[in-house]
Amino acid sequence: MKNIPFGKPIINHGEFRAVNKVLKSGKYVHGKKSIEFENNFKFFTKSKFAVTVSSCTAGMHLFYFINGIKKGDEVILPAQTHVATAHAIELVGAKPIFVDSELQTGNINISKIERLITKKTKAISIVHFLGIPVDMIEIKKIAKKYKLLLLEDCALALGSKVKKKHVGLFGDAGVFSFYPVKHITSAEGGMVITNNKKLAEKIKSVKAFGVDKNYNQRNFPGKYDVKELGFNYRMSEIHASIGVEQMKKLNFFLKQREKNFFYLFKALSKNEHFYVISNKNKKILSSNYCMSIILKKNNSNRTSIIKNLNKNGIGTSIYYPKPVPLMSYYKKKYNYKNSEFINALKISERSISFPVGPHLKKSDLNLMIKKINEIIK
Ligand SMILES: *Cc1c(COP(=O)(O)O)cnc(C)c1O
Repeated sequence: MKNIPFGKPIINHGEFRAVNKVLKSGKYVHGKKSIEFENNFKFFTKSKFAVTVSSCTAGMHLFYFINGIKKGDEVILPAQTHVATAHAIELVGAKPIFVDSELQTGNINISKIERLITKKTKAISIVHFLGIPVDMIEIKKIAKKYKLLLLEDCALALGSKVKKKHVGLFGDAGVFSFYPVKHITSAEGGMVITNNKKLAEKIKSVKAFGVDKNYNQRNFPGKYDVKELGFNYRMSEIHASIGVEQMKKLNFFLKQREKNFFYLFKALSKNEHFYVISNKNKKILSSNYCMSIILKKNNSNRTSIIKNLNKNGIGTSIYYPKPVPLMSYYKKKYNYKNSEFINALKISERSISFPVGPHLKKSDLNLMIKKINEIIK
């Protein structure tokens, strides 16, 4: 029987050769591959600076740490996101303030942000849900008015644009993820982009223990000083070499995702039992991470639908299983109530996500359409 996975990295000759070369070279950190990956990323996003990190979570943690966000501070973020967006705030001791979603795109409800801003608010963290960009022009206005830092979690938004400008460049920094099922992978890894030179340099230092001279900058072997506290959030040359190869395929990947998304969208939007999370704003370009449908009926049996789809070889996922404030850790700590996140809950409880990635063939798409319409009726 057919088996269509939700996500599958496309790894071939180039990646195998690149990893082999690094392994043979004996140079596993502080090498040329990370710099090449950063340069490719700068070129693609048109950012002034790009810094490799060990994951998107590490990149976001660094951002708050470097900007001195700490206990007693508050950061505003969407409720419907990966837990990492909130964890990065918790890790520096600040309090995450969650905002409910809008139903059509799943993105943060912008109209609810301003009333949550207090004297303690230091930053806004924006997530481009499933790659659909948030209206960053509006967000920027709010951040400017209240003098707040602005971080973009772009983990699912490589290729997403607002008015032709790549996401991640509207705020102070944007952070990307290269976890295996994202748009491109380096097995594990992340990238921070920014147009702020000072911030970029600080990230480079703090991601590597806060040493004043990295391995290549030392004029005397083994000699360096440490002027600040730091982490080890570096990306290895092995990971970076995979990233460099994946960047060569990125434009092709994005085209395939767009084609697959609209092929499914066209065929499935006739089904009256669900609607598709999508973007109706012509000024923004989505990276088409996946296709999420929201079942219309309140008590529609999502579990049995998913089981049936999986049994027929159709891979699915859920983005995300619970709004973050209602995950046990956050619910226990801050006592958030379900009633505060009605739309985020609706998306968690009624959505089913389908693949649109470049691993799909036309026959896969046709089978998905056939089975989805057969099972959800
Ligand atoms: C995957 C994901 C992350 C986590 O990325 P890592 O690279 O695994 O740390 C963060 N935010 C969002 C929105 C994600 O989808």
